[in-house]
Amino acid sequence: MHTEVQKSLFLEVVNVIENYFEQNKSSHVVDYIKGTELKDKLDLTISESGISSTELIDEIKKYLKYTPRTSHPQFANQLSGGYQFEAMLGELISFVGNNTMATYEVSPVASLIEAELVKLINDIIGIKDGDGIMLTGGSNANLMAIHCARERKFPDVKRKGNQGLDLCLFVSNEAHYSHKKAMMLMGLGLDNLIMVEADKSGRMIASDLDKKIEAAKALGKTPLIVCSTAGTTVLGAFDPIDEIDVVAKKHKLWHHVDGAWGGAVMFSPKYKKLMKGIELVDSYTFDAHKLMGTGLITSFFTTRHPDILSLANSGGGSQYIFHEYENAQFDTGRKSLQCGRKVDALKFWLQWKSKGHSGFAKFVEDQYEKQNYMVSLINENPRLKLVAQPEYLNVCFQVIPTDESLDINEYNLDLRSRLVKEGKMLTNFSRFNDGTIFFRHIFANNITENKHTDQLISHLLSDLKEE
Ligand SMILES: *Cc1c(COP(=O)(O)O)cnc(C)c1O
Repeated sequence: MHTEVQKSLFLEVVNVIENYFEQNKSSHVVDYIKGTELKDKLDLTISESGISSTELIDEIKKYLKYTPRTSHPQFANQLSGGYQFEAMLGELISFVGNNTMATYEVSPVASLIEAELVKLINDIIGIKDGDGIMLTGGSNANLMAIHCARERKFPDVKRKGNQGLDLCLFVSNEAHYSHKKAMMLMGLGLDNLIMVEADKSGRMIASDLDKKIEAAKALGKTPLIVCSTAGTTVLGAFDPIDEIDVVAKKHKLWHHVDGAWGGAVMFSPKYKKLMKGIELVDSYTFDAHKLMGTGLITSFFTTRHPDILSLANSGGGSQYIFHEYENAQFDTGRKSLQCGRKVDALKFWLQWKSKGHSGFAKFVEDQYEKQNYMVSLINENPRLKLVAQPEYLNVCFQVIPTDESLDINEYNLDLRSRLVKEGKMLTNFSRFNDGTIFFRHIFANNITENKHTDQLISHLLSDLKEE
């Protein structure tokens, strides 16, 4: 079906990909360039007659040239990174098929794969006969949790709207910002997003949750749901799910766990205990595109309530898309907020099937070993200071300037912005409410080795003079 020109173009692209990964050994993570200047280097216009295949290859190369390399061993900037070969094949094949997940009829294999992945995840966390769906990210999985919780307690809302019910969501003040968006979108209001205190390591304090729920009730509000976080975005803290669950059950709240980032500990018998109590909760968010490196987007919402996704999300579509037929039980469209839905299941399933359970456990544990190595380097060096003791794969630390007259926060901010512009290594920064600015280094990249951590540390300590 492809023309000879397309076939040779395809082979050339395979070559470009091969070279791209090869160059990770010698190139920078990023060729930093200001947005205004990058615009001049790219020709973003669309011409009347289009471009040739040689020009197309040039555009692909240019795209890769100016795009930060997330599979570079010195990329530690995001909660995702590295490279999973089998997942890439899955991504490619799902495009080749280009099927929508709405019905079994057009995506039979993918529907069964997705159902199996949901069941596997529920099995691992200890939820029997539950349900789940893949969706467009952890943010939207958290939104789905609130949506399901509301459907469960107030099914009338579906028809009548919020009716002035002051429904509240409780999260720790270290929780992800997606909860804010969900409150705005669902018409519940930011004032009903109630922040619970976290301890020094960033874990929600269950007794404060109890207090905040009582206080909300006293104001005439209706507590609906509490979201614990398994692996907070900045510090990587795990809220005490079991303790929070006791409070949630006492007040009859839906308990959701946002494990977008930290949920991957479920694959490791050694670290799974960080989510003690997970088998008790109502629902769970997990992003495989974060620690497991499956590729954006690979995101799950799972729940112990087998009927809730359909109850909350079905509505319409029966004239043309959802038919009564022998395979209707496998249709996922009625459980989703999307109509057309991409096949995200294949890439993750191929990756998991290739590596097996022990491969996934090893992957998580390898990242912990690298984290431990970095923490020991920091602890040994008087010029480096952890801002929190890591529970997970976030290493948050400050570099102490040799010149004591310098402000430590300004110094770290300046060091980080020079690091980005230089482009050899990429690691992020964050700040506490008290103004403390620090590096947030993430171990999510399977390509990084201890020698790369050595390089980063000595580079930072030399004030970016040596590598
Ligand atoms: C990244 C993250 C999210 C958001 O997930 P997306 O897939 O980026 O939408 C939610 N919660 C936590 C704790 C996260 O780290």
